[in-house]
Amino acid sequence: MSIKVILEKCTGCKLCVKTCPFGAITVVDRKAIIDFAKCNLCGACVPACKFVAIELKKDVKKRDLSGYKDVWVFCEQKKSKIQSVAWELLGKGRELADKLRVNLCAVVLGDHIEKEAYEAIYRGSDIVYLVENPGLLHYQDEPYTKVLVNLINEYKPEVILCGATTIGRSLVSRVAVNVYAGLTADCTGLEIDEKEKLLLQTRPAFGGNIMATIITPNHRPQMATVRHKVMQEASPDKKRKGKIIRKTYDGNTFLSRTKFLDFIKEIEETVNLAEADIIVSGGRGLGAPENFKLIRELAVTIGGAVGASRSAVDAGWIPYSHQVGQTGKTVCPKIYIACGISGQIQHLIGMQSSDIIVAINKDPDAPIFKVATYGIVADLFQVVPSLTKRFKEVLKK
Ligand SMILES: Cc1cc2nc3c(=O)[nH]c(=O)nc-3n(C[C@H](O)[C@H](O)[C@H](O)COP(=O)(O)OP(=O)(O)OC[C@H]3O[C@@H](n4cnc5c(N)ncnc54)[C@H](O)[C@@H]3O)c2cc1C
Repeated sequence: MSIKVILEKCTGCKLCVKTCPFGAITVVDRKAIIDFAKCNLCGACVPACKFVAIELKKDVKKRDLSGYKDVWVFCEQKKSKIQSVAWELLGKGRELADKLRVNLCAVVLGDHIEKEAYEAIYRGSDIVYLVENPGLLHYQDEPYTKVLVNLINEYKPEVILCGATTIGRSLVSRVAVNVYAGLTADCTGLEIDEKEKLLLQTRPAFGGNIMATIITPNHRPQMATVRHKVMQEASPDKKRKGKIIRKTYDGNTFLSRTKFLDFIKEIEETVNLAEADIIVSGGRGLGAPENFKLIRELAVTIGGAVGASRSAVDAGWIPYSHQVGQTGKTVCPKIYIACGISGQIQHLIGMQSSDIIVAINKDPDAPIFKVATYGIVADLFQVVPSLTKRFKEVLKK
């Protein structure tokens, strides 16, 4: 990219000086001068100039994108079992592939994991790229990145989807750099622009206040990570047929500078928040860490997991692993009970697709009531213990 001032058009009005966030423009002898040591080519000055005296040139190298086809889903596995986020992505991937009239392909990496490759076919894949090696038994950045990059360079997919999980985030950012592609992280919506054949990648931006739709017109593959529980899982159909393409690579591909020792599960809670059918969440309205026991009691009584707002986590009342929302977990339980949570957009993003939302808040104008199926305007210190008591009575019968 390059930027220049067209001196004949510049009147020295200083509008550009006020607009430049980097203080890179000064006016000398009624002409704007750009300090290239400070300018980062953001382009803010271009529309600010009423006299069209600043020109920003983008040298977009046209790459040949014609050889790229098919929608790929990276199927994350743990203990040789593909994780449910992959089934969600195959459900969405099928829709996208059908709109593009291309194949839906799954990438399955692991050791002795062929059975799971068939499962990926039952869940909608036309083709499964299967790489089996002891070096792929557990996720490790280096071998997984090398294998996925090799596959991409050979087969050239036009779209790659991956779960926005700890593994997915670690893997595809590395892969994107290696294949010179961009990456839209944490998407909550994916569609196809059928005219341009582009992937429309929607994600919250600016602290969740707006939804941004991002396109990748000049590079391939178009890569996106998608949060768990945002898309519907593809149902298995054991009659589906597909092709498995097995790939082998030399030993160097599987080398890693890190060594997998053990996987240690967080022992704090017994119920996995992302998988729970019922979640009882507490927010700042609880007032003190010890009051989370009310939330825990209700959760235990009805077989649910404990969630929390970021305020409760930031206050140190409960560990981060319980946080629901934009910077926490996305959840989609059958019942979500929000206690003393105001319902700011960053929290809603993580739970608003729950089937039933029960909100308990003493402020009738709290935004949580806008998404609630049932709203209880009351003091949580009265309502929550009463609910626990009543559930205990009913469930005993
Ligand atoms: C970039 C960014 C990312 C963020 N990510 C997240 C995220 O992942 N998750 C998240 O939750 N937040 C997130 N936040 C913070 C978010 O904006 C809110 O600040 C936060 O969700 C508020 O938490 P809260 O509802 O517990 O607290 P508050 O907004 O303070 O609400 C407390 C509520 O409790 C009610 N209350 C008080 N006492 C009682 C009582 N006795 N009985 C009943 N109700 C009572 C009040 O009426 C109030 O509505 C993020 C913010 C930013 C900027």
